[in-house]
Formats: sequence, structure tokens, C-alpha cells
Amino acid sequence: MNKRQSRPLPAAAVVGAASAWMATAGNAPLWRELQGLGLLQAHGGWLLAITLGGMVAAALFALLSLATWRPLLKPLIAVLLFVSALGAYYMWTFHIVIDGAMATNTLQTDWREVKGLLTWRLVLVLLLGAALPTWLLWRVPLLHRPWRQQAWRNALGTFAGLAAVIALVLLSFQPLASTMRNHKEIRYLLNPLNALWATGQAAFAGRHVQRELLPVGRDAKLLAAGGKPRMLVLVLGETGRSGNFGINGYDRDTTPELARADVASFRNAWSCGTSTAASVPCMFSPLGRDAFLARERDTEDLLDVLQHAGLAVLWIDNQPGGCKGVCDRVPNVNTSQLKDPLLCPDGECRDEILLAGLDDRVASLPAERRRNGVVLVMHQMGSHGPAYAQRTPAAFKRFLPECTSNHLPDCEPATLRNAYDNTIAYTDHVLGATIRWLQQRADYDTAMLYVADHGESLGENNLYLHGLPYALAPDVQKHVPWITWLSPGFEQASGVATSCLRRNAQVHVTHDALFHSVLGLMQVGTSAYRRPLDAYAGCQQH
Ligand SMILES: [Zn+2]
Repeated sequence: MNKRQSRPLPAAAVVGAASAWMATAGNAPLWRELQGLGLLQAHGGWLLAITLGGMVAAALFALLSLATWRPLLKPLIAVLLFVSALGAYYMWTFHIVIDGAMATNTLQTDWREVKGLLTWRLVLVLLLGAALPTWLLWRVPLLHRPWRQQAWRNALGTFAGLAAVIALVLLSFQPLASTMRNHKEIRYLLNPLNALWATGQAAFAGRHVQRELLPVGRDAKLLAAGGKPRMLVLVLGETGRSGNFGINGYDRDTTPELARADVASFRNAWSCGTSTAASVPCMFSPLGRDAFLARERDTEDLLDVLQHAGLAVLWIDNQPGGCKGVCDRVPNVNTSQLKDPLLCPDGECRDEILLAGLDDRVASLPAERRRNGVVLVMHQMGSHGPAYAQRTPAAFKRFLPECTSNHLPDCEPATLRNAYDNTIAYTDHVLGATIRWLQQRADYDTAMLYVADHGESLGENNLYLHGLPYALAPDVQKHVPWITWLSPGFEQASGVATSCLRRNAQVHVTHDALFHSVLGLMQVGTSAYRRPLDAYAGCQQH
């Protein structure tokens, strides 16, 4: 056979082809969204699509032209191809968009959690969308010029790309501006620019917050002496939908144990963010959502203040992803990798592991602190998706058949709902078991508080999972359960009556209240405490 030496291609041609591929095929979710909104079919719809696609291609061309150097160009294009294929798959499958919070989440994801997201369809998308073009790219020899000439060409390419972006914006300014204003989600769909922008934003957000923490509540002290010390178990829930709890009026009895346990449930509670990484640090912060988002320095959190007051604090975490920095300065333990044969089958521990050996864990905390009181935080795996079915032991699969695919749109809505509701039924059991454990701690006045970090979309309007930008997210991603159980001794000592809390079930409460509510329950006095934000203060008799 006659082996032909293929001629080197100008680098700009390859840059152009890669940009065009990502702008068109990589933006399938954008085209679907435009069609779903009726914009594609409307007058001038195609022009809008061509403008948006052209802008993405031109911006990519400008960016890649800057990087057209022999060792740099091919690896960079390959990375972008994979980022864009991944982004397209997730946006298409779960109807999510990619913003700074999503990038923070992704960067903080524990790689052990990733296997829950792998599907054959994803492998196929990566093969066709990224691996195949990368293979072609590697086979093509590129024509690189002497560096001075190349530098000029690169500058020219960047300039041409930027000029094309500006020209496209000017040419269709009116329809473009009104579309972007009316459909803010579109900007988060421009793949892969959204991921680049979001990663930059996440990195920048991390940097501008100074590392040294502002002290909070250094004046904290216990207000009352005498009587038994108090013990609070704060169960930090994962992906809890308020509306799927039987005690909140759901049409299924997902929470029989809580119903029997005489708890009070705030049915009108709202989260700080729509993802774990956004919500958890905000929940424990003294700042409240607005000030937290605007902060220039990180501060000490609720757990620091409890420690300043002399209480014993322990964080027990059943998520491989951990506590997002919240528990760094208090005793903490991670249970997600334990080897309990019953509670940890196939490498993942069920949430009951949080209660295993709990007496010993408490006994190992400093005795002089325990005498003042104890706060245990249990961070659940809860209803973490998309592999809902993996969260529940067989005995709690009360609603069948359940969806077992990680590709949620494949599942019948009823089976998806079943799989999710089973996770709530199991959480109900974990909370019931926690309450029974607390009832045996006669040496303390005990209480349990359960609050979830955010909610979840289960296919409503074709949305799945969570993590949409807060302003765009539907209520189901933000409406969270907030459930309180107080032992009779705790009620008497604190003057907070469960019956009163029940009468306040519809009072609007947000994660902003958690910091102050826990300080109130634990009788911690400090200048950082704000009584109007204490969700229990209104029910305090004395
Ligand atoms: Zn979460």
C-alpha cells in the first residue's frame, strides 16, 4: 500500500473546526431549551440560534488562538472537548445549568461519589463527543510557524474572534438583549463557556475571601447553671423535600416514626442555597444568607461559638464529601468508609451508622465540657441522588417498584417518586432511632433538631436533582424540612413547649435562623445571638 504522508494543516483551521464542533453539537441542550421556550420557532428564531452559536464559536476561536503554541494547543482542545461533552450530557439529562455554585460543587465532589453518576449513555457521549474528535486531532499534523510569526497570527486570530463576537452582538442586539433578559438561564447554557466562566468564578470567590477567620462569639458563655446539662443532636439532612414528609401533609405516610414521637415540624422552612456546598457553610454561619453571600472574610461558625461557651461538640459525618469546612475546628469523625458488615454493604454506609457506638463517642469527649452540655451533629447521606435506591436498606423499600437507573429521565415518574420516598422513610427511621437513643440519656435534658440542606427536583418540568441558581430554582429545591423533638425534661427546663411549636408550624423560617436557634436551645449567651432570629424564642415561657 502506498502510505501517504498527510500534509500539515494550518493551526487556525483546526482551531476553527474544534470551536465549531463545540458551539454546535456541544450546545444541544441550548438548542433544546430554545425550542422548548418557543424561541426557535418564533419569527427570527433561527437568526437568534445562529447568533448564539456564532458567538460561542467566535469566543472559543479567540481563546484558542491565544493558546496556539505547539505543546499547548492540542491538550487544551482535548480538555475543552471533554469539559463540553460532560457539560452537555449533564445539562441535557438533568436539565441543570452550569454556574459558579455548580462549579464549586463539582470541584469539591468526592470522587467516590462520582460512580453514582456514571452511566453507559455518559460513556457513549464522551466517546463520540470528546474521545473521537481528540483522536482525530492527534492524528492531524499541525503547521506551526517560527514564534514571532506565530505570535502575530495568534494575536490576529484572537482579534478576529473578538471582532466577530462584537459584530454578532451589534447585529442582533434587540432580540438578543430581550431573550437574555427574559430567559436568564440561557447564559448558563452556553457550553463550554459556562463551565470556563463558572470555574473562574469559583476560583476567584475562594481567593477573595481571606483565609484568616473573623472571630465570632468569643464572649459566649452558658446562661443558666443548675439542673441537668443539655444534649442536642442536630441531624443535618441531605436533599430533603419538605413536601415529601408524611408529617408535613404528604399524601403518603413516609414518616410513621416521627408521627409517633410527638415532634413539631416547621412546614414553611427555606434553604440558604440549592446545593450542599452552598447551603452547609451558610447554615452554620452567623451572617445569614445575604451577608454570607456578600462576605469578604469568612468567620467562625456556630460550632466555634458552642465551643467558646464550653460545650462538648462532635461532628459525625456519613458523607464521603465531608462537612465543607464547617467542622474543621471541632472533634469530627467520618463514618462513610467504615466496614460494618450490616450497615455498610457494597462500600457505602447507611445512615444508621451515625448511631453506631454513639455512647462511646460521647464518653470520649472531654468530661469538663460534657458537664456543660453536648451538641452532636450528624451529617446524613440522606436522599443524595441520583442513586436514591442505594440509600435505603431492603426493609425500608416501602414504595415499589422503585427507579434504579442513574439516568433519571429513563424512569417512570411513579418509580422515581417511590425511590425518593423510600429514602425519606429510611430517614424517618434514623430520626426515630436517634430520638429513642436520646430518651435513654437520663443524665441530660435531650433534644433533636433535623434540618435538610436543600430540596430536590424529581422530574417536575423535566428538572432533576438540585443546584440550579437560587433565583431560577423551583421551590422544591429550596423548601426544606425542619423538625424538632424535645424531651419532657428539656421542655420543662427551657420553657419551650412542643405544643406551642406546633401552633407555629406555618411561621416562615429560613436557614438564617439555625445559628441563633441552636444557641437559644443550648442556653448560650453571646453578643452574636439575635433573639428575633431564634425560631424557638417565640415559644419560650420563661
Ligand atoms: Zn446536599
